[in-house]
Amino acid sequence: MSWRASVITLFPDVFPGPLGASVIGRGLETGAWSLDTHFLRDYAHDKHRTVDDTPAGGGAGMVLKPDILAAAIDDVAPADDPRPKLVMSPRGVPLTQKRVRELASGPGAVVVCGRFEGIDQRVIDARGLEEVSIGDYVLAGGEVAAMVLLEAVVRLLPGVLGAQESHEDESFEAGLLEYPHYTRPQVFEDREIPAVLTSGDHGKVERWRRSQAEALTAARRPDLWAEFKREKP
Ligand code: SAM
Repeated sequence: MSWRASVITLFPDVFPGPLGASVIGRGLETGAWSLDTHFLRDYAHDKHRTVDDTPAGGGAGMVLKPDILAAAIDDVAPADDPRPKLVMSPRGVPLTQKRVRELASGPGAVVVCGRFEGIDQRVIDARGLEEVSIGDYVLAGGEVAAMVLLEAVVRLLPGVLGAQESHEDESFEAGLLEYPHYTRPQVFEDREIPAVLTSGDHGKVERWRRSQAEALTAARRPDLWAEFKREKP
């Protein structure tokens, strides 16, 4: 069984979108992962296929109804489905490479895409949805956020990235941002490739990359740097 993503959305037509391109799309074609989308309106029971209602207590916007979303979740992921149930939300726990790796090592994920003002809290609680944020900004809906999460996970699945595109050295994998990259030409607009990279001394190259990664992390991400120093004093 390959890693399975089930997405509950009001806009199923936007999938796979960018997930159909390049290595992620190839993984979909070769069966390294699978994607099924579920149209939330299919679970509405009135003739207008209503999925939202006005917020209790008043205020702007509309709220996704708990009964409709619960019916969708129960259909897509019955009680014995072992996959984590996620809901994309700016209030959620920020997504990290660590969580991405955990998700990639599991059987898949059920991903709910929010819309409008939000989702009735009772269905989040009743179905144990894990709220996941992709950053401290507000999108119009959860679809792009779900794609971000899925792309980050799928590229870690076995057989998705070729040997040329290993992820072991990448930003966050060692708790550091990645070192800078260079390629030919040797001189670009009077800027040379750092001499150490063309010295042929692999030990020196490794040490230079490491010091660049540490300096970048300390300068740009004091939060990551502090955590890195805590774990590897
Ligand atoms: N009223 C909500 C708030 O202030 O937290 C924002 C709702 S937003 C307009 C509609 C949907 O977009 C959310 O339910 C969520 O699914 C998605 N969304 C928006 N920003 C997001 C983010 N940073 N991370 C993950 N999902 C996001």
